[in-house]
Amino acid sequence: MNLDKLASVLIPDDDLLPLEEYEKIYPPRNLAKGAQVTRLAPSPTGFIHLGNLYSALADERTAHTTGGIFYLRIEDTDEKRKVDGAVESVIRSLKYFGINFDEGAEIEGENAYGPYYQRQRASIYRAFAKDLIARGLAYPCFCTEDELNAIREQQTERKEITGYYGKYARCRNLSEEEIYANLAAGKPFVIRLKSQGSTENKFTFRDAIKGNITVTENDQDVVILKSDGIPTYHFAHAIDDHFMRTTLVIRGEEWLSSLPIHIELFKVLCFDLPHYGHTCSLMKMDGGTKRKLSKRKDPELSLDFYRGAGYYPKAVIKYLMTILNSNFEEWAAKNPSADYSQFKFSVEKMGKSGALFDLDKLNDISRTELSLLSPEEMYGFLYGWVKEFGTDADKEHFENRKYIISVLALIMGAGSKKRRKDIERAEQGVRLMDYFFDDTFKPVYTFRYDGGTVKNILDGFAKIYDEADDNSVWFSKVKAVASQAGFAAEMGDYKANPSEYKGSVADVAEILRIAITGSSNSPDLCTIMKILGGQRSVSRLVLAGNAL
Ligand code: GLU
Repeated sequence: MNLDKLASVLIPDDDLLPLEEYEKIYPPRNLAKGAQVTRLAPSPTGFIHLGNLYSALADERTAHTTGGIFYLRIEDTDEKRKVDGAVESVIRSLKYFGINFDEGAEIEGENAYGPYYQRQRASIYRAFAKDLIARGLAYPCFCTEDELNAIREQQTERKEITGYYGKYARCRNLSEEEIYANLAAGKPFVIRLKSQGSTENKFTFRDAIKGNITVTENDQDVVILKSDGIPTYHFAHAIDDHFMRTTLVIRGEEWLSSLPIHIELFKVLCFDLPHYGHTCSLMKMDGGTKRKLSKRKDPELSLDFYRGAGYYPKAVIKYLMTILNSNFEEWAAKNPSADYSQFKFSVEKMGKSGALFDLDKLNDISRTELSLLSPEEMYGFLYGWVKEFGTDADKEHFENRKYIISVLALIMGAGSKKRRKDIERAEQGVRLMDYFFDDTFKPVYTFRYDGGTVKNILDGFAKIYDEADDNSVWFSKVKAVASQAGFAAEMGDYKANPSEYKGSVADVAEILRIAITGSSNSPDLCTIMKILGGQRSVSRLVLAGNAL
């Protein structure tokens, strides 16, 4: 068969360069020895998830701890799944977590290895597919969807491996006449690899994450160009990672089963194989069982969830570092003020199987990280969230920087020896401050005493309260009101004779606390009343009294 002619008939494009030209356009990168080139290669579906961030962090750390390059490639070969704005959303989402690309789609810079959108690279793939046809390593396949289904059914019935291979690869041995007759009849075709492998052969492969694994040679005649001339993931992966000079492909373990195909493709294309590291899937405990995080069931899989809920980006990254490298936690405990970037990250230390994602642990890390901020820094973080996700009322409140900072200093216990860890994330932190503003103060009074007693205490305290009082004067006034209302002013007295009193001074303070904050649980009440101011504090006491 005249293979050169066949290649030109199947791929008649006149814009393809001789193959060695592509090697010149995309030469090996000029980087120091040991520098790793990694990439994130998402499809532009608009859904960017925690698994992407997890991989991206491993990619970014690997590249940037070795003086290498981390780039963004967009795998947009499936037009149907493309969503407008998805690329910007990937970049923005990762940036929120402090992960930045050195080059790639929509990244400013030299970008010498682009274009980084696969659709814009069609001619490169086609040039190499044409060469494979000419070398007898690829062929046109005219099988219809129905024919392929029939083959699959037959294989399933016979309990054989499914796919297009060996005796099932009908178009592999079409004669020249048959091919040209099919073409003349206008039959659509795909281009398939003519696999040279055999499943009889097995070999050991070193995965950077999984370690040594046994791989069975590929014998599937996989599609490399679809009927619209666009490459499959397999083919585009081999060509792009070669010409973008990736040294380490970090990708999800769902691709492990395709590894034999990729190894064969690199071989027939005469490219050096990059290193691979297959990351394990993120799992969660559901009831008593471990399962994969699912897009449908787990909102926490989407990165938008973390931005929307106002997670502190550094806390999310620190948490992911603990699941990426098991020795990170110990290092972080020893170096509490060090940035995670100082940790010596290693792909080899990544978990080999199912990483357990635990939202409670993330929340815990988040509270600790946020407690280390100054009230001013916390204001900056919360305001960032408010601008994007807050209500109109939140936005207005945050205009009053000084007031919010005084509230935060109290909530965070700034200045005291033991910082409070009440703020877990921006959304919850902002809601924690609602009672400091009249328009968002929505109390549900739950007093444990009868109306007459409560009113007596509220009125009594409203009469003698003075904003200028310091803590001890304030407390002596609470005691005075307690005595007058039949409560023990001293805890000791109450404990000695509980039946003689309606309650203790602590119960009186609780009544005041509920009236002022709407809750029986709050930071120091005297300070809260000072922040609110005398007039507003007294009107809250009156408001609560009137509500009885
Ligand atoms: N586009 C593939 C995906 O989103 C990329 C896999 C890879 O990193 O090679 O799953």
